[in-house]
Formats: sequence, C-alpha cells, structure tokens
Amino acid sequence: MQQSNGKPVMTNVPAAALPVVVVGAGPVGLAAAAHLLERGLDPLVIEAGEVGAGVASWAHVRVFSPWRHNLDAAAVRLLARTGWVAPDPGAYPTGAELRERYLLPLAATPELAPRLRLGTRVVAITRHGRDKMKDAGRQQAPFELVVDRDGRQERLLASAVVDASGTVGTPNPLGASGIPAPGEARLAAAGRLAYGMPNVLAQPERYTGRRVLVVGSGHSAMQVLGDLVRLREQAPATELTWAVRGADLYHGDGDDPLPARAALGARVERLVTAGAVRLATGVEVEELRPTADGILVAHRTGWLGPVDQVVAATGFRPDLTPLAELRLGLDPAVEAPNALAPLIDPNVHSCNTVPPHGALELAHPEPGFYLAGMKSYGRAPTFLMLTGYEQVRSIAAALAGDLEAARRVELVLPAGGACSTDRGTADASCPVPEPSGTAAPACCGPEIVPLGGRPAGTTVAS
Ligand SMILES: Cc1cc2nc3c(=O)[nH]c(=O)nc-3n(C[C@H](O)[C@H](O)[C@H](O)COP(=O)(O)OP(=O)(O)OC[C@H]3O[C@@H](n4cnc5c(N)ncnc54)[C@H](O)[C@@H]3O)c2cc1C
Repeated sequence: MQQSNGKPVMTNVPAAALPVVVVGAGPVGLAAAAHLLERGLDPLVIEAGEVGAGVASWAHVRVFSPWRHNLDAAAVRLLARTGWVAPDPGAYPTGAELRERYLLPLAATPELAPRLRLGTRVVAITRHGRDKMKDAGRQQAPFELVVDRDGRQERLLASAVVDASGTVGTPNPLGASGIPAPGEARLAAAGRLAYGMPNVLAQPERYTGRRVLVVGSGHSAMQVLGDLVRLREQAPATELTWAVRGADLYHGDGDDPLPARAALGARVERLVTAGAVRLATGVEVEELRPTADGILVAHRTGWLGPVDQVVAATGFRPDLTPLAELRLGLDPAVEAPNALAPLIDPNVHSCNTVPPHGALELAHPEPGFYLAGMKSYGRAPTFLMLTGYEQVRSIAAALAGDLEAARRVELVLPAGGACSTDRGTADASCPVPEPSGTAAPACCGPEIVPLGGRPAGTTVAS
C-alpha cells in the first residue's frame, strides 16, 4: 500500500504490485476479499464503520433467505480453517445474527484481519495523475483513493477497485420528485420522520399510541408495518396508515423465489383486509406540513393526516459522489452498470428474474473498477447476497486474468425459482403477526381506499 499523508503519492510502483482495494466490509466486500485471496491477489478492505456496519443498521430484521443462501463459498473455506461452527443452513438469521455468526468471525480470520482498515471512509476514487478527460496512459495508471479517518485524509494507490459499499447509507427521500419534499428535512431533524427500517419495537415512546404513516410499497415497508401492528397490541390507540405510490402491492403474485418474503406480502395483505392497517394508494408525496394537530402530507391528488410519525421506507440509492472522476458506464435511470440494468429495472421487472451475472456485465469503461453487491443494483431493490457472491467470484477471476472462470456462471439461484409461493400459507419464520381477533380469508384482496381530493384540507385516511 502506498500512502502519502498529504504528500504526493509514489508514481513509479507497477500497478500489479499494488493491492486490490475493496470498499466496504459488508457480506459482499468480505466475500470479495476471500475470493481475491484465493486467486493469489492482495486485497485491502476499507470500511467506513465497523465490520458489517450496513447490516448492523438493520440488525433487528430477520432476513428472507436462509443461512445456506447467505454464505459465500470462499468465505466459508476461510472460516472452515478456524473451527467455525456453521449455522443451521435452513434457519433464517436476523441482521444481528448474520454479523455475529458470519461476518465478525470472517473478518477475524488470520488471512483477512490484517487486510481490514475500519473506521476509514473512501471519499474519492480516481486514476492517479489522470482526470476523467485524460486518455494517455490511463489504463496503466493505478487507481488513487482518498480516505478519511477521523478527519485526517490519506491517499492510497490500488491496482484495481471493487466498490461494495452498499446503499443503506443513502435512503431515497419521500418527495415524489426524487428530492426531499418541502418540510421533509425539518421533520427528519426533529425526530418525526425516520428512513429505511427503523426498529420501531425498540422505540415504543416514539410510536406507541401514535398515528403513524408508513410510506413505500416494498418489503421494508411491510416489515415495519408488521412490527407496528405488534406494538398496537399493547396500545390499541396506535393508528397505522400505509401509503403507496402505485397499485403493485404485496409482491405475492407467485413469482418470488424466497417463500418467507412472499409470505410477508400475503400477511400484510391480510392485515389491510382486516382493517388493522389503512391503505392509501396513488400517493405521490409533494409536501410535509407540521401543524398543531400533527403532520399533514400533501400528495398529487389529496392530503393524508394529520399523523404524529412518518416512516419513509422508500428504498435506497447509490452514493456516486466519490466516483465522479471515474469513467462509469451506468444506466441513467437505474444507476446500475449498463449491461445489468435491463435485467433488474423495476419499471420492467416485478419479480426476481435476474439471471446470475459477473465481471462481464459489471465492467465499466474504466478497466479494473467494479461496482459489486447492493450498490451494483443502483436504485433497483431486489438484490440478494447470493447474487453478490457470484459477482465477486467472477470479478476476482477476471482480475486474476482467468477470463474463462470469469465468464462461467457458478451460481444456482434458490430452488423452486419463480412461482413457488402459496399466498395462503403463513410461513412460521415470517415475523409479521396476525391482527388480533381477525382472520380474513387469505385469498381475498384488500379493499383499496382512495383518498379525498385536494384541496379538501385535512382529510384523514379512513
Ligand atoms: C432490511 C434489509 C433486509 C435484507 N434482507 C435480505 C435477505 O433476506 N436476503 C438477501 O440475500 N439480501 C437481503 N438484503 C439485501 C442485501 O443482501 C443486504 O443489504 C447486504 O447487506 C448487501 O451487502 P453489501 O456488502 O453489498 O452491502 P452492505 O452490507 O450495505 O455493506 C456495505 C459496507 O460499506 C460500508 N461503506 C459505505 N460507504 C463507504 C465508504 N465511502 N467508504 C468505506 N466504506 C463504506 C458500509 O459501512 C457497509 O459496512 C436486505 C437488505 C436490507 C436493507
């Protein structure tokens, strides 16, 4: 590793002698390091927080994929040398268990531990001595990274970079225009709006007995609603409203290869049908207005509220700021690599039809730079760890010059594939409780509640 401590970095080191920098010590970044090691390469993992910091942010959530789909093969080979006891392959861990039983032991292996730099954020990646416009000698120039640790910046050189820094640090705003709606930032700062998947069960003072609006149509929104229903069992005064932009709800249309995830959709559908959760469709948020009675949410065709708390479970997007000086080939809408984007575009795909893919699909006009893991999917929501493990197996092969192995597809997607869901079957592993005292037939669709038109003032969802 070459570093400058503020002075110019060395320029005469052959790129091949430099490490491959992996950004992020999440499941995919650590798996990348394990594959690079097996290929005889020299990985260096730079992590902004602690090991598995992204996963730690949703520690309370039980994942939809069983252990056997959450482990990377090269990582398991490293762990096997340490006396590590593999978890039950059919069990479903929480985020906390994923860290404790897999990511932390993996990061502690003698092979990986010395190659980790924690508490260090990558703030910029470029080609050494070559701004984005410069062609001459570009491909031979090493990558140059600016990293920040406690406000002190250093520069590192790398032969290649695998950016597996995830997206959970950059949630989508509520505003339908893709930027924060007027009033949004103030409410977030005031502790009245939370992003992503807040642990509502651990914050009863914030949510119990309150009027809570959950926005978003994905599984994160459904998990939060399930937890809120559980809270409501202690405090029936808690009012729950679920606002979605479109009408593609529940994702229970039989095409989800993960039965636990499909079962969540089916159970939330029953909660709505039973009236435990009020549903508002066609909601495109335009403004959040705090009033003496609570927060009013203006949307294109009406108003919601007043409510006390808002949860914006509206997905995540990649932070591309550190990559501004690299020549990326990204789809302008999905912000995923050009060849991958059509396979995962949520405008086109409503289900998990993503074929396994690797270095070829993930390549950029900047040879030696790859996005991997959740970040490689850009704004598309359907990333699975298993897919990420296949990505980094292939990337490591490509970086080692084994193009045949890089092109080969070794991933076998979850058995049963598409269309294996029984909407009426409640999966025991699914954390969403039944609404107390109600048992709507699982086959019944919910009644969609369209909300009043503007400017009706303060229409309360009912
Ligand atoms: C709530 C939730 C549930 C999920 N459930 C499942 C599931 O059931 N099954 C499944 O297969 N997938 C699931 N996923 C999707 C995905 O597999 C996980 O998000 C997984 O953690 C992605 O791994 P990753 O390594 O790509 O990113 P992350 O786990 O997010 O790791 C990225 C790491 O990079 C670090 N980082 C970020 N920026 C920088 C920087 N500038 N410099 C240095 N380090 C940085 C972060 O601190 C973090 O530790 C779920 C995702 C979420 C959010």
